[in-house]
Amino acid sequence: TEAFLTAIDKADALNAFVHKTPELALERAKAADARIQAGDAPDMCGLPIGIKDLFCTKGVPSQAASRILEGFTPEYESTVSQKLEDAGAVMLGKLNMDEFAMGSSNETSVYGNAINPWRRGNDDADLTPGGSSGGSAAAVAADLCLAATGTDTGGSIRQPAAFTGITGIKPTYGRCSRWGVVAFASSLDQAGPMTKDVRDAAIMLEAMCGHDAKDSTSSELAVPNFEAMLTGDIKGKKIGIPKEYRMDGMPAEIEKLWAEGTEMLKAAGAEIVDISLPHTKYALPAYYVIAPAEASSNLARYDGVRYGHRATLGAGDGITEMYEKTRAEGFGHEVQRRVMVGTYVLSAGFYDAYYNRARRVRTLIKQDFENVFAQGIDAILTPATPSAAFGVGEMTDADPIQMYLNDVFTVTVNLAGLPGVSVPTGLNDQGLPLGLQLIGRPWEEGDLLNTAYALE
Ligand code: GLN
Repeated sequence: TEAFLTAIDKADALNAFVHKTPELALERAKAADARIQAGDAPDMCGLPIGIKDLFCTKGVPSQAASRILEGFTPEYESTVSQKLEDAGAVMLGKLNMDEFAMGSSNETSVYGNAINPWRRGNDDADLTPGGSSGGSAAAVAADLCLAATGTDTGGSIRQPAAFTGITGIKPTYGRCSRWGVVAFASSLDQAGPMTKDVRDAAIMLEAMCGHDAKDSTSSELAVPNFEAMLTGDIKGKKIGIPKEYRMDGMPAEIEKLWAEGTEMLKAAGAEIVDISLPHTKYALPAYYVIAPAEASSNLARYDGVRYGHRATLGAGDGITEMYEKTRAEGFGHEVQRRVMVGTYVLSAGFYDAYYNRARRVRTLIKQDFENVFAQGIDAILTPATPSAAFGVGEMTDADPIQMYLNDVFTVTVNLAGLPGVSVPTGLNDQGLPLGLQLIGRPWEEGDLLNTAYALE
């Protein structure tokens, strides 16, 4: 723990940790030592980790990287971070992210973006670690912690994992309790681990998941020992390659990576099957209707009364001005855009045309996956991202669609509620990491991680 705390202090330039908790960490590390000495060490005893700022942590500022939560220090601990603490993990601090987890570059954070420890060839320019769990990815890649929590609504664990050469899994919707995790889009949000490798992901995922009476969508299914399922044996497994993911203009390096990953799985004894997921092209538009709709509702609670920031009011300002000024000051541009889009698609005149249509598309996307699983497909292999990490400022706010396109391979998985893992599988010509995604059957994270294990 001491070594990691020193490393974190030396790496301030990466802007990965937005709130450090050294005293608390040392106290918990001592307690972990005592448990180890007493011979009662749980799985993650004494392992130093980082927690994304989206998780509420008792007595420790939890701002979701937003100005509107300035000064908010929760009285409670999220179920997932509590479970990690119970498993002996030692929190080193809170990690940077896009504001309310809305973004793919960490650039919407009120703290400014975290920086990717990787460089493009000899070019010194800063690259983004991806987002929204960009601080988590940067911290794990730069050895500032052994592992970190992330959350994934449309790719926020898998894309930053791919951009930084680490492993990240979004479990099946309902595997991890959402209680105490600041809500973005409740029907899509899931927490998951971001780790150095697949084995660490298996260990940490087991510690994070399980039923929680405080989240009615959390599953009552038993949590398997995921690590024990990492045999590396994938003989006879059927791996689907969806033709719709071979998008126009896909960079040659991504095509090559995908082909190499396919060969690796084949060499390990898997059967490769061409499949079709016909509604894939509608996933991104459907996601960018559903996620903002849910966000506009979830973010209504930030009213200047219940949490965090309140604007300074002028003489004669009433409650309406208080709401308006607080929300105008407290939310950044991207969050405001989502609230506006969400409010629009839910409004009486447009509800059927946008929100209801997007929900129907979501069902079709889910059925696409159900159909291929019914044909005996065990997992689906796709690229995790359409490119390697891009430069800070390269995809500016001026063109949000460019940024949204980053999520093209990941949002389908959230819409269908399936588990998806991003595995680092190589470097491009400029020496930047690239990742492949494996999508699994619902509740079969163990099997999925075992396939990922064969790929790493
Ligand atoms: N980039 C996507 C978005 O901005 C996904 C974010 C996430 O998964 N939290 O909505």
